Amino acid sequence: MKISMVSEHASPLAALGGVDAGGQNVHVAALSMALARRGHSVTVYTRRDSTELPARVLVGPGLEVVHVTAGPAEHIPKDELLPFMAALADGVAADWGDRPPDIVHGHFWMSGIAALDAARRFDDGGYSVPVVQTFHALGTVKRRHQGAHDTSPAERRWYEPSVGRAVDRVIATCSDEIFELKAMGVSGGKVSIAPCGVDLELFSPTGPVEPKGRRYRILTVGRLVPRKGVDLVIRALPLLRQAGYDDVELVVVGGSGDSTSMRTDPEVRRLLALADELGAADRLTLRGQVPREAMPAVLRSADAVVCTPWYEPFGIVPLEAMACGVPVVAAAVGGLIDTVVDRRTGLHVPANDPEAIAAAVAELLGNPDLRSQLGRAGVTRVRSRYTWDRVAAETEKAYQITLNEAVRQDSLQPMEGTAL
Ligand code: UDP
Repeated sequence: MKISMVSEHASPLAALGGVDAGGQNVHVAALSMALARRGHSVTVYTRRDSTELPARVLVGPGLEVVHVTAGPAEHIPKDELLPFMAALADGVAADWGDRPPDIVHGHFWMSGIAALDAARRFDDGGYSVPVVQTFHALGTVKRRHQGAHDTSPAERRWYEPSVGRAVDRVIATCSDEIFELKAMGVSGGKVSIAPCGVDLELFSPTGPVEPKGRRYRILTVGRLVPRKGVDLVIRALPLLRQAGYDDVELVVVGGSGDSTSMRTDPEVRRLLALADELGAADRLTLRGQVPREAMPAVLRSADAVVCTPWYEPFGIVPLEAMACGVPVVAAAVGGLIDTVVDRRTGLHVPANDPEAIAAAVAELLGNPDLRSQLGRAGVTRVRSRYTWDRVAAETEKAYQITLNEAVRQDSLQPMEGTAL
């Protein structure tokens, strides 16, 4: 199959850990590579965000990345990218020329707009390029949790459900998302499910282990944005001390830049101030961005990886931790409900609950047998369910269903006042 991926803000070639560079970048890169390994020809279209970038990068056999000029060639926060989607569609359609792909797959709601726009240009009245969409995150969920702090453009309210209804098929990454999609008016019949995967060659239980700074190490990994809940883990530190676990360090990986340069970031300042106020600053290390290749050694060094976001569309970090044989303390939200099995590969805690986090971490620190049992089960689980080859096969199945149906639903029309 000739497949076009559209990923407006998340380039598969970007460094990870910054505010807008995380799981989607990993997902698009790994899925595209796995599809290419299965013999497909994949082109990823992403916005040019630097003048240094070449127009095309051949990543490997069957996979290339095209940097499309759409707006200024500089970093622009993803929430300000909507005005450039028409230009992105222009670039995608121009690159297709008169040889459009068999399928175009949009990642994130704005890429869905560009993908539909580009596909529509090849509509000969009966057939146009089928569009598959993965949302990665949903505005309805974000608004519910972030309220007035949600910086998404207002248009997302009606564009996102419109994309969901207009595309031929939506791929949800977890079962929780299916309910959210239905609530947005997307028919359940056109939703397939394919989770994210994990690179098992990189993330494995054996290999180098970074030395710890204290007897116990707990770790969080992710973009440093409030909804990732790092503050909740900092709040758990004094509670762990009360429970008798004093010699514990919390290592926080993620953020824009290294541990020094990111200190101007307001979220970093907030976390440091909180640790200070709680008398836990000496047990907190903010590591900044850690390159992907260095991540397994850091993960293996942890007694527990703590993932306690307010909400999580999928969450690749828990899979990476499980692949490294490390138990996960996970908030029972979104994708984490599917990936982390309570008391089998980790411990579930309620959302926004530092006491529950401290209790779960204390249980793990106090029980090395439980830690290794959960760690081993985590490795088995990811190996059987979350390889990128398996995810690619499931995605390919969704493409095949789409091609068989090849019937476009309603066209993408702005629907003012759509009730969500
Ligand atoms: N990541 C990384 N270096 C960092 C911070 C994060 O390589 O400094 C990677 C992390 O290992 C994971 C991804 O970024 O692969 C984050 O994905 P996840 O789905 O957990 O969160 P998202 O960023 O999509 O909300």
